[in-house]
Amino acid sequence: MPAAKKTAMHPDLAEVLLTEAQIKARVRAVAQELKAVYGEGEFTIISLINGAVMFTADLMREIDNPIRLDCIRVSSYGSKTKSIGSPQVIYSLTLDIKDRHVLVIDDILDTGKTLSLVSKLVRDLKPASLRTCVLLDKKERREVKIEADFVGFDIPNKFVVGYGLDFAERYRNLPCIGVLKPERQNAASWSAS
Ligand code: 5GP
Ligand code: MG
Repeated sequence: MPAAKKTAMHPDLAEVLLTEAQIKARVRAVAQELKAVYGEGEFTIISLINGAVMFTADLMREIDNPIRLDCIRVSSYGSKTKSIGSPQVIYSLTLDIKDRHVLVIDDILDTGKTLSLVSKLVRDLKPASLRTCVLLDKKERREVKIEADFVGFDIPNKFVVGYGLDFAERYRNLPCIGVLKPERQNAASWSAS
């Protein structure tokens, strides 16, 4: 028999900001917002991996439009909790998006550097339209003037993990979104077990 999923808060979290149920409900609502804009039409999702995998997968299943999916990978924080320098594209698009309606999806809008880099890259490929959608928005941290067209939740300036978001590649599989305990914000403190 498969092991039962644990429901208690993960011991490395100081607090849960968004529960699995809250995320689920909001993802459904964002899908309705997308429907109101795209109608029945086809659009191409560009998902920023790895962080946006959960959000993208759940959101796509709430939408019955014809959808094409591509992924793009931009350099991330590594084992740090603060964004440093300029993000770089590590893995780029394979689909042709010229004259297509494009929706870029990311997990979180923080300084805005990543989303503006990807928006520029997409715009240069001459799509019919470009919109952006993020699950989380840390407005306080913005350094580049950019807002997403669709936002799941506004959150305070705290480093969060779970539901696709990682710290040094861990915690992506948590069903909720929470704040890491300060003593866990140091990957060197982990054992390999
Ligand atoms: P930005 O370029 O807007 O500063 O950062 C966007 C990227 O930084 C996101 O795609 C995400 O990968 C990462 N990021 C920003 N804030 C957080 C956070 O609180 N937790 C995690 N895990 N990643 C974050
Ligand atoms: Mg990311």
